Amino acid sequence: MINKDVLIIGAGAAGMMCAAEAAKRNRSVLLIEHSEKAGKKILISGGGRCNFTNTNASHINFISDNPHFCKSALSRYTPDDFISLVKEHNIHFHEKKDGQLFCDDSSKQIVEMLLKECSESGAEVITDCTVDAVQKNDLFVVETSQGTYTSESLVIATGGLSIPKMGATDFGYRTAKHFGIKNTGIHPGLVPLLFKNDFTETFGELSGISVDSYVSYGKTGFRENILFTHRGLSGPAILQISSYCRNNDSISVNLLPELNFYEILKNNSGNLSLLVNFLSEYFPKRFAQVFCEKYLPSKSVNHLSEKEVKDISEKIHDWQIIVKGSEGFNKAEVTCGGVDTDELSSKTMESKKVKGLYFIGEVVDVTGWLGGYNFQWAWSSGFAAGQFV
Ligand SMILES: Cc1cc2nc3c(=O)[nH]c(=O)nc-3n(C[C@H](O)[C@H](O)[C@H](O)COP(=O)(O)OP(=O)(O)OC[C@H]3O[C@@H](n4cnc5c(N)ncnc54)[C@H](O)[C@@H]3O)c2cc1C
Repeated sequence: MINKDVLIIGAGAAGMMCAAEAAKRNRSVLLIEHSEKAGKKILISGGGRCNFTNTNASHINFISDNPHFCKSALSRYTPDDFISLVKEHNIHFHEKKDGQLFCDDSSKQIVEMLLKECSESGAEVITDCTVDAVQKNDLFVVETSQGTYTSESLVIATGGLSIPKMGATDFGYRTAKHFGIKNTGIHPGLVPLLFKNDFTETFGELSGISVDSYVSYGKTGFRENILFTHRGLSGPAILQISSYCRNNDSISVNLLPELNFYEILKNNSGNLSLLVNFLSEYFPKRFAQVFCEKYLPSKSVNHLSEKEVKDISEKIHDWQIIVKGSEGFNKAEVTCGGVDTDELSSKTMESKKVKGLYFIGEVVDVTGWLGGYNFQWAWSSGFAAGQFV
């Protein structure tokens, strides 16, 4: 049996950050990963360029039963702190838009940077190691395929359920349950949505077409593209809203967020064009045809009644679509929900019930928007725990 001060399970973004930080405090640290290599999700992130943070990150960009929980960790390890680390390692990056920072070259650089931070601070990383059992006596006892380890602190950094083929497991939620720690409900987030009724029959043929929109659910909305797919809708605005809505909820799509289509139609009351041709001036032609065929009268603009003008502008500005489901964890970028934040200290990420047990990263009920926020939560929560384990 080998004893360490700190055992961390899961060598993803949060686990590697925590391991390096704890080792910098001269704690003996072992980071256990069941996949053949560390940081597999980092490697595939941001289209291979890793959107590693967002310079605008604040608590409003995160979803949680307790929206205040993430504040403390985010304020103690900020996007600027991570940017400094990236610069120290001579990794070149650029802002794509709205504060989203990506590597110029490859996500691989971020994994290499974190592994270097681990090795230089003395944290040991083992891969291809499965954890068979976790117990707590005076110390934590972790039985693995590579031997039994004991430790004073145990950190669960095993992430969420999205993309099982990248190594995702429910280990974190099971471990919480094993120690009597509550989980919230979980569901796929940042995921393409599927819709009720004949949506696919009608709009499936538009696969590949995107439309700049404002998509909202309740008071939450996102101004981005929607993208038609063979099965439903994707694109940034849909991915964002997917983290908020559930099956049978109705989302609203404003297809011309910058304009007032009622006024436009009124100002064109003498226009002899067919409505479908008129709409094609504002939308991709194929979309205008399918949308018109499905919802709008086949008339010229000058023949529209007041009621029709009102109905058409309502459809364009508030297209209500009922969610039937999503593409699920196989396609989701994140898992919404997780270990209940009421169970954890927001300062240290330690369990309030089980001394020495910590949860960090995506396994916790803190889910970021699309745009680098999820990695920032991984760095911030990993750093926070790293100061106390
Ligand atoms: C396709 C895709 C693209 C993404 N792009 C971005 C992006 O550009 N920007 C952004 O901010 N976020 C992005 N995300 C989200 C981001 O990757 C995650 O939120 C982040 O990786 C979470 O970090 P984590 O350390 O908590 O979990 P992970 O990075 O998932 O790490 C968990 C680790 O634990 C390991 N593990 C799991 N179970 C066990 C077990 N039983 N025993 C041992 N090890 C285990 C896993 O193999 C993994 O290495 C993306 C996600 C996906 C799926």
